[in-house]
Amino acid sequence: MTLTEPQKVLVADDDPVNRQVLAELLKPEYTVLLAKNGEQALERAARHAPDLVLLDVMMPDLSGYEVLRRLRADPHTERISVIFISGLDRPEDEANGLKMGASDYIAKPFNATVVMARVALHLQLARQRHMLERLANVDGLTELANRRRFDELYAMEWQRAQRNGWPLSVALLDIDCFKQYNDTYGHPAGDRALRAVARSTGTWLRRPADLAARYGGEELVLMMPQTTAVHARVAADELRAAVAALQIAHEGSLAAPVVTVSIGGATLGQDGMESAAELFEAADAQLYRAKQDGRNRVAWRDVAA
Ligand code: GH3
Ligand code: MG
Ligand code: MG
Repeated sequence: MTLTEPQKVLVADDDPVNRQVLAELLKPEYTVLLAKNGEQALERAARHAPDLVLLDVMMPDLSGYEVLRRLRADPHTERISVIFISGLDRPEDEANGLKMGASDYIAKPFNATVVMARVALHLQLARQRHMLERLANVDGLTELANRRRFDELYAMEWQRAQRNGWPLSVALLDIDCFKQYNDTYGHPAGDRALRAVARSTGTWLRRPADLAARYGGEELVLMMPQTTAVHARVAADELRAAVAALQIAHEGSLAAPVVTVSIGGATLGQDGMESAAELFEAADAQLYRAKQDGRNRVAWRDVAA
């Protein structure tokens, strides 16, 4: 979501007249999506990631309550704001809807001006929440996830891998002779090179659960859940080659005449690693090895080059 793009509102109501009236009302200001039942509402919400759902409570297949419950149960849709629009107008119905996690409750027959005012209010709140989440999770210079976000997701993926007996690959990437780069080309040029490396890393990610984050300074961390050591090592080497292929001149480097990276990785497998920290330290040790062996290379625990 950018700040200039119109926000998206999904209207879910089994009554075609209600859908039509709400759509006409909202269209001048928002991108409007329509769903005529609960299943369709869930499908559209997952596919289009609306900022807000106007949700009818009584629908023939799934009730609005059930739709809300399922939206909240899915990490992709759990944060979407929901306003119930309902013919049930007793105070306990309204209280129930709000208790379930709806942002607001509007009784039918509704007043157009009130609907528009409430929609505007909740979209503004959604936008502020989104900006806060961004500030908390995204690194400003590289636009990658920040360390806080990595720590959070890493702990989660570690648990998942342990529970399911899945492999989990982690790698640390460090730019080669970057101090020298700053000394030669200046700090602003260093920032640009770092951003270029981060962009390569971003486009290199292939699965939704893969993550690249800025760990600190000019060090990035890569996480590849459900990826074996052999596959992760190949992927890491593709990234290493992609950075070298950017051909950013680096005269003072010991590794190559262009900006390069060293990557050290380790994989949680059948080897009884005790903790997420231990796996991370193993990756760090491999990074040290990659540097020792001449830089612009990948070293992976238990995998030969
Ligand atoms: P090595 O190949 O052994 O990694 O050598 P190096 O010079 O890269 O050594 P090291 O990783 O210890 O140095 C990190 C340097 O990266 C220090 C600092 O000048 C630079 N650096 C860290 N963060 C930033 C940043 O955000 N912007 C810029 N321009 N430089 C940074
Ligand atoms: Mg470093
Ligand atoms: Mg470095």
